Amino acid sequence: MNPTPGWVASGAVCPEHPQSPSVGTCTRCGRFVCAGCRVVSDPVLCRACAPMAMDPLGIVSAHFSAGATLRNGWRMFITVLPVLLPIAAIFSVPAGLISAGVESLAVRDSMRATIDSQRVVNFYDALIGLIGDIGALALFVGVAEGKTFTLGQALKEGTSAWGAVFGARFRGGLITLLFTLLLIVPGIWKGVLLAFVVESAFRVRGQDALEYSTSLVTGRWWPVFGVLLLSALVAYVPAMVFGGVMGAVGELAHLPVVAIEILTDFGARLADMLLAAFSLATFYGLNRTDGRQLPPMTWA
Ligand SMILES: [Zn+2]
Ligand SMILES: [Zn+2]
Repeated sequence: MNPTPGWVASGAVCPEHPQSPSVGTCTRCGRFVCAGCRVVSDPVLCRACAPMAMDPLGIVSAHFSAGATLRNGWRMFITVLPVLLPIAAIFSVPAGLISAGVESLAVRDSMRATIDSQRVVNFYDALIGLIGDIGALALFVGVAEGKTFTLGQALKEGTSAWGAVFGARFRGGLITLLFTLLLIVPGIWKGVLLAFVVESAFRVRGQDALEYSTSLVTGRWWPVFGVLLLSALVAYVPAMVFGGVMGAVGELAHLPVVAIEILTDFGARLADMLLAAFSLATFYGLNRTDGRQLPPMTWA
């Protein structure tokens, strides 16, 4: 065969290193890459394309700040909102049924029934709702790191990372509770240090999520506390207004209790997801400001 430029008898060579055989083509720009130029192997990306493909919106490389948290969190949330809506709906129907069911059991003491139903829903959320939470987190990580998921793929990520995230959140919650029982202030202190256990467990596999979160926050406790507080206000104030309006409208229109419960839960679930997006944006910012390179993501 006649060798043409860029080719040797055995096949293609790297345009940067003509002496090195090509081991594939960059999935973004289509150029041949040698083993040294193939910075990412799945999908194959060259040295020039890898940073842009893995951080298409500049979210991963944004430094920690309140502005970056709100801006980037909102961008991740709004980009995948069409997939978040069905996830919130899927998980709010059982939650609404549980709330309405427990409340209907106790007619006399409605205050007590509301607290009981909240406990049962919390239990449901810690075990089952968590799949939806991780699914949403997978979607946000996908937006930031250049990967698109369908509803089914997001839920698959949710089930496959369930064990790691449940363990980290359970341990984090337990430790925060112990500190809170001691006194409120140490509880808040510990809670902020452990604010990123879910993100750490999901995004940095193979490291202790509690230690990772603590090391991200240490030395920046007050700024992180401020950003978390701001994030919670931005995420939950609209949900509280929505819940109040739903309650009032429901009573006026004599909607069944279960419908009001499902709609209110749906609103609260979306607020939780927005807060998770803010939290992930903060997590990226803290890693970036610390000069930490996140390991390649391992998807389900
Ligand atoms: Zn390329
Ligand atoms: Zn090369």
